[in-house]
Amino acid sequence: MRLLAATKNRNKLQEMRAILHHLGVELIGTDDIPGLPDDVPEDGTTFRENALLKAQAYSMASKLWALADDSGLEVDALDGAPGVHSARYAGEPCNNEANNRLLLRNLTDIADRTARFRCAIALATPDGRSWCVEGRCEGTIATTPAGGGGFGYDPLFIPQGYTQTFAELPAALKNTISHRAAALAEALQQWSVLLG
Ligand code: IMP
Repeated sequence: MRLLAATKNRNKLQEMRAILHHLGVELIGTDDIPGLPDDVPEDGTTFRENALLKAQAYSMASKLWALADDSGLEVDALDGAPGVHSARYAGEPCNNEANNRLLLRNLTDIADRTARFRCAIALATPDGRSWCVEGRCEGTIATTPAGGGGFGYDPLFIPQGYTQTFAELPAALKNTISHRAAALAEALQQWSVLLG
């Protein structure tokens, strides 16, 4: 089974490939198909809406089945921010370090540091059908960044049950407990007939 992964984010593509490859699903990247749009406006108000927008746009453009992920971090003390604005929390262009600095600044002196990563994964077909599933990973926000692995908010996110951040923990472990892994597991369960 070959699917187009509708993402320009190499880290996400790598994580999705690592999680899916042993199941016989081959993910091709947008760079492998000439003439695809560089970006799709992500103007939905939920992860779900944005994932569907991306999957549908890339499926139409490529005439392939397309899988898209929209994900981000929700912090309880900040009423769910950065949420769907996670990639550009500190403004344009996307800058992970600036995002992490702003998050720490906004959490200064705040004791409740509970948060979660959320991920919506949408599948769309060129004939206009689409589906969407979601996954989460609960955790807390550290007081200082730690670790060199992963991407985005990984240096600040300590998953529940662990004492180290996602950026410190091995990538293989992140890929079993992350929001993306949870959403992909749900996708494989719900879409086994579609993807078989
Ligand atoms: P998207 O590309 O619009 O889905 O934006 C996702 C943004 O959420 C990324 O730029 C990161 O800031 C954040 N994010 C999503 N997943 C992760 C993850 O696994 N680790 C760290 N940050 C993530």
